[in-house]
Amino acid sequence: MSNLPKTAELVIIGGGVIGTSIAYELAKRGMKDIVLVEGDTISSGSTGRCGGGIRAQWSTPENVRLAMASVERFKSLESELETELEFEQGGYLILAHSDQELQQFESNVKMQKSLNLDVDLITPSQAKEIVPSLNIEKITGATWCPSDGSINPFLLNFAYARAARQKGVKIFQHTKVIGIEHKAQKITGINTDQGKISTNQLVNAAGGYAGFIGKLAGLDLPVVPHRHEILATEQINRFFKNMIMSFEYNLYFRQVMDGGIVGGQTNPGELPGTDIKSGLTFLKEMSVKLTHFIPKLKQVKVIRQWAGLYCTSPDAQPILGKIENLAGYYQAIGFSGHGLMLAPRTAVLMANCIADPDFQDEDLSRLNLDRFKHGIVSGERSVV
Ligand SMILES: Cc1cc2nc3c(=O)[nH]c(=O)nc-3n(C[C@H](O)[C@H](O)[C@H](O)COP(=O)(O)OP(=O)(O)OC[C@H]3O[C@@H](n4cnc5c(N)ncnc54)[C@H](O)[C@@H]3O)c2cc1C
Repeated sequence: MSNLPKTAELVIIGGGVIGTSIAYELAKRGMKDIVLVEGDTISSGSTGRCGGGIRAQWSTPENVRLAMASVERFKSLESELETELEFEQGGYLILAHSDQELQQFESNVKMQKSLNLDVDLITPSQAKEIVPSLNIEKITGATWCPSDGSINPFLLNFAYARAARQKGVKIFQHTKVIGIEHKAQKITGINTDQGKISTNQLVNAAGGYAGFIGKLAGLDLPVVPHRHEILATEQINRFFKNMIMSFEYNLYFRQVMDGGIVGGQTNPGELPGTDIKSGLTFLKEMSVKLTHFIPKLKQVKVIRQWAGLYCTSPDAQPILGKIENLAGYYQAIGFSGHGLMLAPRTAVLMANCIADPDFQDEDLSRLNLDRFKHGIVSGERSVV
């Protein structure tokens, strides 16, 4: 029998890294009576299924700024949360395969440098110096940012959840939101399969199910779930610690600390949906691509493959903050495959916006839902 409280100051829906980090930042600011409800278990969603990559090499200034500020937070989070997170700044090497792509990279690097990112356009042979086993045959150049890196998503999410609990946040797993009540354009409560909570504030942090939560509140949110597949190989001696990415080949991969190679791709033509089966087509395609880039992986066995959901927004950027006409409703959704790396800064912005009605921030307002009122102006292009 669940001991779900009857009332709460604020309810966070979703126990992925977005929900737990917002819970932690709010509790840190002194907010009391926060309840987080998770339909399954902490990290059972995309957070526990992701690649753990962290990069600031994006094509929109908003994403670059959010990621750079998150990297700064990642640096101090291990001591702040008092635990090992396997945070490592091994760098991201993003490969170009045509002169046209190189031109796009050049303009990205110019914008990124203007925001003080330590990124450079490099030649194929410089890329090979960074990863000696890399096949550079079809590569026209690359971008390299040594401060990009990776983290263990489980350690990060459990650390945020634990720290939030220590600060008084009540976390209920196996508690699924099935209804949202509102009256006179104000949130009044949520219904779960374990009972009802009266509240005037909620945060939609439901990842791939954010659109469904929106519908419960009477909102038609412009987000859709998309399956994304990923695999891991057996452990081998560690020979590189960078993330390697190619938009042309639609993949990313890295060698994690224990020696396994972890990599994923976006399946061309993947339709929206919540199916998270992982199949043979993906396994075959990834094996061909991985062994093209690192031929010595031909002898290495894949031991696991799985899938998770991207919560995709129309411009591949997150949708943050409050909305018009429904007081007390907040959202941090639509991360489009890069929510783990943006979580620390997102959580700070969301907590500031919830705790202080007068809080202003350029990125928070640019990433508000109302940006779609006049159509989609531009979007993030550097997505796998
Ligand atoms: C294969 C893959 C690889 C990825 N690689 C990277 C990467 O390298 N770097 C990166 O930054 N990002 C990556 N991502 C994206 C990243 O995983 C997500 O953007 C991030 O984890 C989103 O966190 P979240 O908390 O919003 O969502 P989630 O982790 O999905 O959490 C949402 C939670 O809400 C819960 N929920 C849903 N509906 C309800 C309900 N009705 N009631 C209660 N709870 C509910 C779910 O059970 C879930 O646990 C990847 C994603 C995938 C799938």
